This record gives sequence, structure tokens and C-alpha cells, in this order.
Amino acid sequence: MQNDSKKLYSKGMKKVENKYDLIVFGSLNMDYVGYVDKLPEPGETVASNSFNIGPGGKAANQVITAAKLTATTAMVGRVGDDHIGTVMKNELAQAGVDDENVLISPGIQTGIAMVSVDQSGNNSIVTYKGANAILTEEDVTHSLDKMKRAEGVVLQLEMDKQVGEYTIQMASDLGKKIILNLAPIVDIDSEVLKLVDLLIVNEPESSFLSGMDVNSVDSAKEAVEIISKIGIDNIVITLGGEGAVFKTGDIIKHYPASKVNVVDTTGAGDCFVGAVSFFWIRSGDLDISVKNAVNVAALSVTKQGAITSLPSLAEYEQFID
Ligand code: ADP
Repeated sequence: MQNDSKKLYSKGMKKVENKYDLIVFGSLNMDYVGYVDKLPEPGETVASNSFNIGPGGKAANQVITAAKLTATTAMVGRVGDDHIGTVMKNELAQAGVDDENVLISPGIQTGIAMVSVDQSGNNSIVTYKGANAILTEEDVTHSLDKMKRAEGVVLQLEMDKQVGEYTIQMASDLGKKIILNLAPIVDIDSEVLKLVDLLIVNEPESSFLSGMDVNSVDSAKEAVEIISKIGIDNIVITLGGEGAVFKTGDIIKHYPASKVNVVDTTGAGDCFVGAVSFFWIRSGDLDISVKNAVNVAALSVTKQGAITSLPSLAEYEQFID
């Protein structure tokens, strides 16, 4: 990494007293991960070389990333009244995330994800939404007090589309900074999409939004331009090992990720979202934020699992030293 990264990282950082830096809405899953030589083709059975069970889910990964980087955070979501639900809530509490609004739903399973990871760290994932699917508009309304106290509102779309749109609308009415990770791809109302302050998407998601094939730095630079016509000021496209391209105002720029020994990319995109959200809310500078987030996420792919691979601020600072 460049020598000036640490200087850039600390520039403009301010701690927000008696408030949440971020409130994150969305999914919690338990990940069942098999490590294979190669991902199975349709109809093929593949034996895994090793197997892990670990906590994950897009929103849980994002909020814990931010918390480990020292953000003050709260989460809104749902788990089932099963053992996995208890484990997930403990995981949030241990990371210092306020989990009061992660509700326990009787008679339903906590969400799960069945993940296969190949030798290059590529993955394929099947999820069961479980309790994540019954997050309601009322749940969002119940978090009003916490949302009022948050600087930024983060969400993805592993939830009912209307609930996602409602969350964005409510955050906008409160004048909050809205950070949307449009994952998985959901065709949300374009008027609601315009309310987003920072949009973060990966290659397939940005291809969907731009109508072009995004598979390189150059194509991502074209795509951010097209996507900005929706009326969003800040857009980031993540490009796996190639890092990320962003657009803020008239600036379009690429930051590569550090070259690392890739072990498992599960949760890398979520790690990026949690990190860029934290740095952006604290510094207000998207350039600094993307520069740091590509490397926080690069560090996460050097370890197995989703939440288990997330670095602390101290580990990240050591990495860029
Ligand atoms: P998603 O999982 O949402 O598709 P990406 O694959 O684009 O997200 O990865 C998100 C971020 O994780 C990248 O911008 C990069 O910082 C980091 N990352 C992912 N894969 C690698 C890799 N092979 N080497 C280094 N960093 C990586």
C-alpha cells in the first residue's frame, strides 16, 4: 500500500458523542460453509475438504465491520426463537452493537446461508431467509428513536422490498445520510432510489443498474457515470480483487485492493460496505473512505468465514503500516 494511506485514514475523522455513527437494517444468517476444490456444476456432488459454521448475513457482517473499526452502532432485524438466533444476538452484543431492535420471532427459524468456497476463494451461496423475511414496517418505526440518534442509515435488500423502501423514506424524512447496498438486486422504486446519498454495488448489481456489462475498471468508470443519472451523488462499484471505482461529484476514481493471500471472499462485499460507511460518516470524504475500505476488505479475505474474518481497527492499522 502507498505510504500516505495512514495519514489519509486519520484525516477528518471525528467521533460522534452520545449518538450512533450508524444504524444498520437487514439480515442475520448462520453460514454453513464447505471448502471445496471446485464449485459444483448443476447436478454434481462435490465433497468438501473442510467445513465451518459461523455467523454472517449481510447486515450483521456490515454492522460488525463498522463496530470493529470503533463505530458506535445499532442494528434492526429479526432472528428466530432458536439456538442460532441466540448465537447471532450474542455475536452482535460481543462486538458492542446495540441489538435491542433485533427482535426474536417465535415459531420461525433464524436465516441461514449454505456456502461453498473454492480454492481461489470464490463462493456460491444459497440462503434461507427465515426470520429475515418478516421484518416489518412496524419494526422500522419502532426504531425511530435510534434512527433519530444515528448519523447514517445503512441497508441492503435481504428484506421485503416495501420495508426497504419504507426505511429509506423514513430516513430521508429525518434528514439522515442514507447508504444503500443494492444487494441482492431488487428493482426498487426510482423515486426512492434518488433519496440515497451513497450507493454501493458490485459488478452484477452495477450491470443491472447501468444496463451495461461491468467487468473491469474501465467499464465500472463508465457505469458510475450512467448510474449517477438516477440522481445519486455518491456511487461505489466494488470489483473483487481489482478494488473499487467510485464517483463523487465530478470525480471518478479507482483504488486497487492490496494483493493478499486469498483464503475466503465470503462477506468481503459486506466488509467493504461496513468499512466505507464508517469512514464516510466520520470523515465526509468518499475518496479517503474508499481508499481505506478496499484494504479493510482485502484484509478480510485472508481469513476464513464472514464475521470471523473481519479485522479490528488495530489489525487494519498494522496491515497498512
Ligand atoms: P461482493 O462480495 O459484494 O461481490 P467484491 O467481490 O466486489 O464484493 O469485493 C468487495 C471488496 O473486497 C473489494 O472491493 C476488495 O476490497 C475486497 N476483495 C474481494 N476479493 C478480493 C481479492 N481477491 N483480493 C483482495 N481484495 C479482495
